[in-house]
Formats: sequence, structure tokens, C-alpha cells
Amino acid sequence: MAYIALYRKWRPQTFADLVGQDHISQTLSHAITTGKIGHAYLFAGPRGTGKTSTAKILAKALNCEHGPTPEPCGACEPCKKITDGTSMDVFEIDAASNRGIDEIRDLRETVKFAPAESRYKVYIIDEVHMLTSEAFNALLKTLEEPPEHVVFILATTEAHKVPPTIQSRCQRYDFHRITVEDIEQRLHTIVAQMGMEAEDEALAMIAIQADGGLRDALSILDQCSALAEGKITAERVRQILGLVGHDWIYRMTGAMAGHRPQEILEIVAELLRDGKDLRQILAELSLHFRSIMIYQAAGTLEKMDLYAEQQDVLQDQSQYFTPAQVMAIITRLHEAMNEMKWSPQPRITVEVALLALAHGVDEKAVTAEAMGQGTAQAGVSSAAPAVSAPSGGAAPAADGARIAKLEAQLAKVTELIEKGIPAAKAADSTGAEEQSKKKVSSRNAPPLPAGTVPDPKLVTDEGQQLYQQMIAELKKDPKLRRVAFTIGRAKFAGMTDQIFYIQFNSTMAAIAQNSYSDLIADTLRKLSGKDRLVRCIADNGEMLSGSHGAVTEKKETRAAKAKAEQAKQAAEKKKEQALAQKTMKEELANAPEEKRHAVDAAMSLLNGTVVSMSDDEVPPPDDSDAPPPDDFDAPPPDDEDAPFPEEE
Ligand SMILES: [Zn+2]
Repeated sequence: MAYIALYRKWRPQTFADLVGQDHISQTLSHAITTGKIGHAYLFAGPRGTGKTSTAKILAKALNCEHGPTPEPCGACEPCKKITDGTSMDVFEIDAASNRGIDEIRDLRETVKFAPAESRYKVYIIDEVHMLTSEAFNALLKTLEEPPEHVVFILATTEAHKVPPTIQSRCQRYDFHRITVEDIEQRLHTIVAQMGMEAEDEALAMIAIQADGGLRDALSILDQCSALAEGKITAERVRQILGLVGHDWIYRMTGAMAGHRPQEILEIVAELLRDGKDLRQILAELSLHFRSIMIYQAAGTLEKMDLYAEQQDVLQDQSQYFTPAQVMAIITRLHEAMNEMKWSPQPRITVEVALLALAHGVDEKAVTAEAMGQGTAQAGVSSAAPAVSAPSGGAAPAADGARIAKLEAQLAKVTELIEKGIPAAKAADSTGAEEQSKKKVSSRNAPPLPAGTVPDPKLVTDEGQQLYQQMIAELKKDPKLRRVAFTIGRAKFAGMTDQIFYIQFNSTMAAIAQNSYSDLIADTLRKLSGKDRLVRCIADNGEMLSGSHGAVTEKKETRAAKAKAEQAKQAAEKKKEQALAQKTMKEELANAPEEKRHAVDAAMSLLNGTVVSMSDDEVPPPDDSDAPPPDDFDAPPPDDEDAPFPEEE
């Protein structure tokens, strides 16, 4: 007997079999029971969520000898034929294969004839969004006046591409991504019924990897059982999914935290020798930092749909980095993934990014720790009045969370002092008091888009002087010397009556905005008597073109400009995401009971999905695979055969 793929063998045969789509099976069952059968259905949802299976079940429900019934018997002639795909009255059209022109033409001619052997003629059109506009028009004509005995089931993964005229004539059902728990449960059932053996962890890994699609999960299970003698182990699944060895990720993270560039380069070389893809390296590394981020926020990885990472390693590594650093690292890794697409030497791009992170982490590890103390002190005194004064304004729960946070920070500071790291801004109570009086905080100012350059005219002598005075002022305090040094390496970038701009390198800007801006604002006020918001600008535009060298300069063509614009937009979006993540994390700290929800949202953001995007909206224009608009004649950056403009 021929081998039948698991996903076909275990295709659901009744509404009750459908996994994770209760809202749909209930509604359809009810419609059939009450005889309210529509003429056209639109099944929308991600791949592998059961659209086609549901369509076939619906066809059987309508045509079963004992029906129409929500529980088709599966044994009668019509049921069997539908299952086998040999029914004369159930037509399956794949719009993806030839865009449906011939099929829809045939359909228009045959649709008016009565069913050959059953109650209903059922047309299942898969991937309906692929139809040509002619085919859509033809279909629309039929949908406008459908014959009594015909039911259309249109399935699509991209409902927004189905014309509104078609959609408005259909009952729409949205299929949900199946949860990891549901998939896992289904896998357990199947494994048990097939008499197979599998480790729990193995099935959990398959369920996570399937990304909401049961069909993919079953295909992976199929592969594993075909290759594995006996028990399906987590090790086997890792091998098949190409997830072998998390080890290098831990080593790389350790090397980044420990500022060991040579080790990082060695690991990259090793991975490339083993045939690992550069992109995959960055992707897996950023997934690991995502795990660290979630671990820091929630204290656990349970129920977070993540690979089983070693809890002890995570616990250990999450201490190397502050949450802000983790987010900056993730952002930088994602930037590098984008840059790779344009880079003539992707390996160098990756190495530069990783080394920059290693240096940045080290620099940040020290200064941010020192600053953590500074902000902790300032925070204590600004939070204290709120606690002692009964009408402090803040909710008690929020205060409690804040105090807990501050206590944690204090503990860290104490530890640092014990280790002998010079303490910064230890008891600067005067500055702190002033800070607590302040209404607007620079720290919470929204980050500026990377590459933003304030009007050069704003770089006045007066501002430059104030900037130098501010650094000198900070240096006076021995505890702030290190901070002053870091700020001193940045660049004064402009001053207005309201805003003071400082340009940092790309990895530092967000940290500086978060950690130093209030301190800088306070010092500036002390010196000038004026209240100004401090804005820290990222300077990655310069870094980028620098790494590409002279070639990029030569090609200052439209392509390069479009690319810069694109990179800018992407960076802008990432900054927004980073801010959103930060805000969410803050919410998280204040509202533990909503932990799960907020972390979910944060994760969707990290995955790059827009949480509340309706189907009609166009996805954001950050698809860097797409060529930049209106530069078809310009050579792509990695096309070495293309002549340089000046040679033309
Ligand atoms: Zn039947």
C-alpha cells in the first residue's frame, strides 16, 4: 500500500475534528442545522489552518446521503467520493496554478446545470486571490445570480487581494493561526494513535516551528518518523529542523558581553565553515536576545512560544545586559539583516555589526551601570515625595512597582560599589531635587529618526560653548567623570530655545537618550538658566557610508539616494518599535497582571507584524527586497558588472 502523508491521513473529516477553529465549525454546523446555507463563502486565513479541509467537510455536510447534516457520515457514496476527490459535483479549482482563466470559463458554462448525483454543486476555489481580473469578473457574474443548487467556497491566504465586489457577496470566515498548545495536543493524539513514540520536548519543538499551521507540523512529524528509528527525540527534531546546537549562540553572547572580538570572529568563521547561512546566524542570535528580553520582562519563558532554551543559561546571560541594551542589540541585529541585502560583502557587514555590538556592550555595560545608579538616586528622591504625600497623584500600585524596581537597581549599585567600580553621582541630592521639580523629562522624549540632522544653522557658537561648559561641569564631579567622558565623545548638533541636540554613534544614542538626557538637561539649566529638552540623535548614516568606502561615494546616484531614504525609513520604523517596546516594558513593570498580554504584544512587534493592521491596509513600505522606486536604470549596489556613472 502506498504511503499516505500524515497530513492527508489525518485530514479532519468532520467539523468536530477541526483543530483550533471552533468559532467556524460552530457557526457552519448551526447554519446547516437550521438550513441557512449561503451561496458563497470566503475562507480567509494563514496556510495550514484548515481552510481546504473545512471546505471539503462542508461539501460532505451538504451532500451526505444522510444530510444536509453537520455530521456527515463519511461512509456513504457521496461522502467517500468527496474524500477521494472523485465526486462529479464537487470541483476543486486551484487559482494559483494557471490563474483560473479556463476553469472559470468552464465554470460559467457548467454552473447552470443541475448536480449530477448529489444535492449541491460545490465549487472550491483555492488561493482565489490569484485569479486574473477577467476570471474575477466572470466569477462575479455568477455570484451575482447564483443558481439554487450551487455553493461557492473561496479560500485565500490573502483576503485583501480579493476584490470588494466579490467579498461583499460572500459570508466571510476568518481562520485563526492554530495555537502551539492545540498543535502540540493534536500531535500527541496522532503519535499515540499511530503507535509511535516521541519525547514531549520533540513535539513541543515541532509545534513551535510549525508557526500556527497544522499541516506543516504534520509534515515535520512525517519527516522525523521517516528518518528516526524508534522514538522521536528532541535531538532528532533539532537535526531535521537545522537547529543543531544552541551552543554557539551562548558562546557568541558571552563573547559580546565579555568584549572578546577575536572569539566572535572565530565563531563566525566556524559557523560559515559548517555551512551555516549568515542571515540565519543573525536571525538565531536575535531570537536568543528576544528570549533574554522576555526572560528579563517576565522572569520565565513558559507559555511564550519559544524554543526550550536552557533556563540557567538565560538566567545567567540576562544579567549581562540591561533591558535597554538588549533592545538596542536586537535593533542593531535587525538593521544588519537589512544592510546585508545591499552589501557587496555580507560577511563583513555581519562581522562589523557583531564587533560593534561587542564594543558597544562593553562601553554601555560600564557607563550604563554607573548611570543606572544615577537614575536610581534621582528616581528615589523624585518618587519619595509621591509616597510620603498622601495625594501624590500616582496610584499606589504603580508606586509599589516603581519602588520594587528601584530597590533592584539599588541592590545592583551596592554590588557594583562592593566590586570597586567607581560610583557615579552617588548622593547628588541637589540635582535630584531639581529633577523632581521638573515637569517635562527629556528621557521620555520620543527618539528622533536615525540620520536626522538638525539645521546646521542651529550649531551656534553659543551652543557649542554651552556644550563644552556642560561637559566641564560634569567632570567637576568625580563620580560623573566617566559619564562626562562618554558624552564628551559625542558631538554638539544644534540648539534652539526649546531643544538641545547631541549626536551620538548609533549604538549609544538610544541609551544616552534614556540614561543621560535628564542629567544633561539639568546641567544645561544650571548653566544657562533655561529649560531645554535634550535630544540624542543617532549617527548611523555616517557609519554606513563609511564602511562602504569610496565606491559608495562614487555612486552617489539616485539608487544610492533611494537606498539611503529606504534605510532611513526602516531605521525610523525600528526606532518607533524600540520605543513601543520600551513603553510596553514600562507598562509591564506597573501592571504585573497584564504581563502575558503585554509581552505577547511585544513579541508580535518584534516579529515585525503590525498588531492592529486590518486586511485592507497596505503593509508598511519597509520591504527592502523590493527595488527602490523609479531607479530601474540605476545599477543595483551589488552588480559588479554595471559601469560606474562616471565611466558612462
Ligand atoms: Zn455520508
